[in-house]
Amino acid sequence: MRSASIQPAIITSVVSDSIAEDIGFDPGDRLVSINGEQPRDLIDYRFLCSDEYLTLEVLDSAGEVHTVEIEKDFDEDLGLEFESALFDGLIQCNNGCPFCFIDQQPPGKRDTLYLKDDDYRLSFLYGSYLTLTNLPPAEWERIARLRLSPLYVSVHATEPEVRQRLLKNPRAGLLLEQLRWFQEHRLQIHAQVVVCPGINDGSHLEHTLRDLAQFHIGDTPAVASAAVVPVGLTQFRPGEDELVPVSTAKANEVIEQVKQLQTEFKATVGSTFAWLADEWFLIARQALPPESHYETYPQIGNGVGSIRLFLKQFETAAQTLPDRVTPARHFTWVVGNAVEKAFEPIVERLNQVDGLTVTMAALNSEYWGQSITVTGLLTGYDILGKLKERHLGDGILLPSLMLKRGQHATPEDTFFLDDMALSDLVHQLQCPVWPVDDIAGLLRACVATDINGWQCA
Ligand code: SF4
Repeated sequence: MRSASIQPAIITSVVSDSIAEDIGFDPGDRLVSINGEQPRDLIDYRFLCSDEYLTLEVLDSAGEVHTVEIEKDFDEDLGLEFESALFDGLIQCNNGCPFCFIDQQPPGKRDTLYLKDDDYRLSFLYGSYLTLTNLPPAEWERIARLRLSPLYVSVHATEPEVRQRLLKNPRAGLLLEQLRWFQEHRLQIHAQVVVCPGINDGSHLEHTLRDLAQFHIGDTPAVASAAVVPVGLTQFRPGEDELVPVSTAKANEVIEQVKQLQTEFKATVGSTFAWLADEWFLIARQALPPESHYETYPQIGNGVGSIRLFLKQFETAAQTLPDRVTPARHFTWVVGNAVEKAFEPIVERLNQVDGLTVTMAALNSEYWGQSITVTGLLTGYDILGKLKERHLGDGILLPSLMLKRGQHATPEDTFFLDDMALSDLVHQLQCPVWPVDDIAGLLRACVATDINGWQCA
């Protein structure tokens, strides 16, 4: 029997030299079923494809149904890419967190910017955080059956009344029971605590981190790590609420408090376990912890240790920098002003290369109304406003973490958080822009032999 909520999965691209290309799949084809089963998401798709014999039911763009028989190695990928990882729609959030970033955006943007996802599948596939407040028993059963681990859980507080107050949801009080469920099933989560001063800080924060550390035991600890993150507020926050921004004094207080707990956890559970996001040190104007502090960087996706890791990777990669580049070139490297100090040594080293000049443009976000901004939050509006009167040299090096690429990943289909297309920025600045994904990309762009050949990728 077919489920009406599951839609045929729309294929957006076919990997070259893949089985799918051999067979003749085209973008726009839709995958209906595999061996008679309708995949409801990428997780089902991968699971169903791990078979040597497949029978695929496919709808082509003219609406004609085809049956395709495939024989392959069990671990061989078909080479299909889909419009979305979810073929039965997004599981949406049922909370009302006052600090929700989605609600802190201005109105009038694309609908997708206002979607509040709280979907365990995206958490498993891409590491997005979820709250576990919206899962019926069948979904819990599926998590256990498919061993979907680790998941990434927004805890914020373990005391039921504090978590309920933060998430504005009575179901939020069940967290400790849910952590016991993960423990019983030998499944793992990574936790995050967004600290809202006056609500879940002080003794509540200590209570939460101690509770979470209780689950960091055994060879498969149910709570693998916890990240402590400062609340982020924007000027578009709706109405009056109880939130206050994190001050320098508050950041210093939280750092001191968590450091003491880290020492204790190291002795009791053998790991620092609860990690402070880099932002705390930037707000507190304190030096970042050394590289040795971060163990295996378990919360790197949450901005814990990402600056330290970036500096370390640069140090290694910089050994391969040439003494000189020709032709001479001058680039503008855009970053959030929160990392200005930390990244000064990088600029200094790059400028030691003869013929290379890199100027850092460390910007805050007028768009969000922030005086200190991390790179990932800069918008097209901010960059355009701050750079349009500046001499930008031969091009802009743009960290791609401020961009969201669409299906086609062209400049027209790549957007900043404020919905501005990358192509608009390039057009308005009349300057080449080079999105850089990482240190290797940054260095590649700096020493490229053909700087005139730059494309806005
Ligand atoms: S759970 Fe996430 S998406 Fe939902 S209201 Fe809270 S912050 Fe927003």
